[in-house]
Amino acid sequence: MTGESNGNLEKSTIKIPKVKYTKLFINGEFVDSISGRTFPTIDPRTEEVIAYVSEGDKEDVDLAVKAARHAFDHGPWPRFPGCERRRILLKFADLMEENLEELAALDTLDAANLYSVAKNMLIHDAAELIRFYAGAADKIHGETLKMSKEVQAYTLIEPIGVVGHIIPWNFPTQMFVMKVGAALAAGCTMVIKAAEQTPLSALYYAHLAKQAGVPDGVINVVPGFGHTAGAAISSHMDIDMVSFTGSTVTGHRIMQAAATSNLKQVCLELGGKSPFIVFDDVDVDKIAPLALSASLYNQGQICVAGSRIFVQEGIYDKFVGRLLEELKTWVVGDPFDPNVNQGPQVDKEQYEKVLSYIEHGKREGATLLTGGKPLDRKGYYIEPTIFTDVTDDMIIAKEEIFGPVMSIMKFKSVEEVIKKANSTKYGLAAGVMTNNLNIANTVSRSIRAGTIWINCYFAFDYDFPIGGYKRSGFGKDMGMDALRKYLQVKAIATPIFNSPWL
Ligand code: NAD
Repeated sequence: MTGESNGNLEKSTIKIPKVKYTKLFINGEFVDSISGRTFPTIDPRTEEVIAYVSEGDKEDVDLAVKAARHAFDHGPWPRFPGCERRRILLKFADLMEENLEELAALDTLDAANLYSVAKNMLIHDAAELIRFYAGAADKIHGETLKMSKEVQAYTLIEPIGVVGHIIPWNFPTQMFVMKVGAALAAGCTMVIKAAEQTPLSALYYAHLAKQAGVPDGVINVVPGFGHTAGAAISSHMDIDMVSFTGSTVTGHRIMQAAATSNLKQVCLELGGKSPFIVFDDVDVDKIAPLALSASLYNQGQICVAGSRIFVQEGIYDKFVGRLLEELKTWVVGDPFDPNVNQGPQVDKEQYEKVLSYIEHGKREGATLLTGGKPLDRKGYYIEPTIFTDVTDDMIIAKEEIFGPVMSIMKFKSVEEVIKKANSTKYGLAAGVMTNNLNIANTVSRSIRAGTIWINCYFAFDYDFPIGGYKRSGFGKDMGMDALRKYLQVKAIATPIFNSPWL
């Protein structure tokens, strides 16, 4: 059975932060919501309130959009030479690193991201992503066109305008910087709706961006709920684009709202049910631990989780045995504890949802190999859970669980596993584990998904675009593809007379 941390936190070295920013950030100021309402954000470890945060609604979104519109139409940000945006973004990244421990602790408190991972990797990587886009800000340019008529022509690359970013709760910092970094470099202004479960670090980042020199009105943060503040953004007549990350169900709603309002551009990063395929030529000792973290990292709350594990029949028993071995060293407990691998689910709703999927798995006849229960302690903790004998038609094989649940399936041939891997409405990511180059090439090209990892998983980088196929959405975050989505092309032509070159 998996271990539970003995709670022996190295607390002396960890400062649980005092929450500083809880109000809406509009036009460079922290302000109360118009209604005066607040909502609690809950610590998933204790089920207690961390802080009450101002609750944005339609009227607050209107004010935020007005500020962003003014900053776009009349302010300096889109008009700055790219090198000025670069300078400010670099300063922003430096400030993130200066406040790294506090930011890491905020995300651990609010979202239960492991503190050791946030402190040693996530915040630093987020600052580096801002630097990546800083480096791109002064390299945005169009082309001179060779026209067939007597005209000269060129393209101007312009920012798309006011962007509405709607983000989820699973990695609050990553979600914020992926959206905001690229849009800022492009010269856009924006309204960000942080997830209602995890509003704290977004407000902190807004403060740091102002300190770095981002002009008022360029970044506005409106925490609030999806059906109120989120819906107000997706249907707003004065927002030019909505860049959304979240569930496929909400993605449908966002697109409908965009279509029936001002036909704003839409970019959707949605759910997944990614296959992790293990062929029988692999080193099981290496791949089994990788499969475990592909499924369970961040409590399974990662869109690209490898939650359908396909194992070829020749190594199936050995692989499952090795997984169980590995799980003995897997520790569930307080995410501030450096010895812990898995913390609590983000909130009661997600916790209950995951437990109900586990019940579905049992009812539908999958074998519950291990786990399946909540931990007997306060907080939204669930045991890491492995199901075997899972068939394609079971709910746990089809729907995104977004929790620490692995479904293992056996396969015989390459053709069979390609078919099974593709038999889902999603197409976000896939893992292909094999030492056979032909198989790696065939499978990676045959799977309809936006990201394929061969003999690795979660290999993210600044220049590595992520985004889905099929109902996992369209458009990319990260890399230059993400920058391009916040830009539009204007073509300009003018007649030329008496040119000796025509
Ligand atoms: P969700 O769709 O419920 O919520 C995401 C955001 O949308 C939140 O800010 C929420 O308040 C807002 N929202 C909800 N209803 C809305 C509406 N009607 N109009 C406008 N906004 C609305 O998703 P979730 O449960 O918070 O997040 C988990 C989902 O996000 C999973 O499906 C996961 O796969 C997906 N996700 C995808 C990626 C990716 O890059 N593809 C990354 C992380 C998470």
